[in-house]
Amino acid sequence: MLNDGRTSERRHLRADAGSTPTPVTYYPVPLQMRLLENAKAIEGKPYADAFTRDLTVSPDWSKSLQDGPMPFDRTMTPSIADLARFASDPEGYPDSGYALLDGPTAYIQSRVVMPGVTTEMFRWWFTWHPIENERYSLWYPHAHVSNRVEYPGRLADKSLSFEERLFGNVNYVEEFIGATSLPIHIHFSHPRDLGMDEDALDRAGLTTSVSGTLRFGMAPEVTSALMLHLARDTEAGMELFSRYWIGAHPELHRFPGAEGAAALLAKMNLDADGALQLAYDMSVHDMTEYSHLARILPRLFSAFGKRD
Ligand code: ZN
Repeated sequence: MLNDGRTSERRHLRADAGSTPTPVTYYPVPLQMRLLENAKAIEGKPYADAFTRDLTVSPDWSKSLQDGPMPFDRTMTPSIADLARFASDPEGYPDSGYALLDGPTAYIQSRVVMPGVTTEMFRWWFTWHPIENERYSLWYPHAHVSNRVEYPGRLADKSLSFEERLFGNVNYVEEFIGATSLPIHIHFSHPRDLGMDEDALDRAGLTTSVSGTLRFGMAPEVTSALMLHLARDTEAGMELFSRYWIGAHPELHRFPGAEGAAALLAKMNLDADGALQLAYDMSVHDMTEYSHLARILPRLFSAFGKRD
């Protein structure tokens, strides 16, 4: 039987509930090796007890990624019109899924509620974790390799707003997507610079954004993706909406450097089949790391959030 549609979608929203969390059991060999290296590196750090190899996800979220690509008419393009449609009705989409769009473009979407988590904690996380690789490894111990920022002093400067600390402060990330380690430069930006309407986001209560364009480390001049993480506080916990478009979608051409994306993708062997596999691998990565962050963030914030 295919999944039961809206019921299943609704249930998997809570990162911790609905049904008993199911352990993540499949890790490609390079991720198994990375876990061992990360476990050794974090020894002696004050937050080492938050490091665990036991990751879990909601079975409903997991199942929602097992029926093949989502229906094309339930996806979004990165066009300004589609971004506006999303901001006016964020709930009007399936909660999670992946697909192949024009370009080719790997498309991923997810929506999760994190009990006990607030947008304040989420903003703090993005100013705290990039300072040390070991902090980044807490988030996904098998898949996260390293992260550093262009201006660590600015990221740590509490006299500035969150947006002043993060936006325009490139994160140089290395992480495994599927079994492949990728160097990724995340250019976090104000949502209005990504084509979103601030007033519409305000009306939806989506006041926290850790969104930006992405470039691969092997071609740092080529804009290769748009990533949205838009969050709001709800009575049940922080609700996070995520979208990724990785590839050469025509609507990404409004970003400088995107014209080189098609040639880069061809060089990376990301044809239609490759982009679709990347979409699935990224959807699993997103599910795994945001399910896990939901579990560790309240404790990390209470231990370190006021200090750092
Ligand atoms: Zn990650």
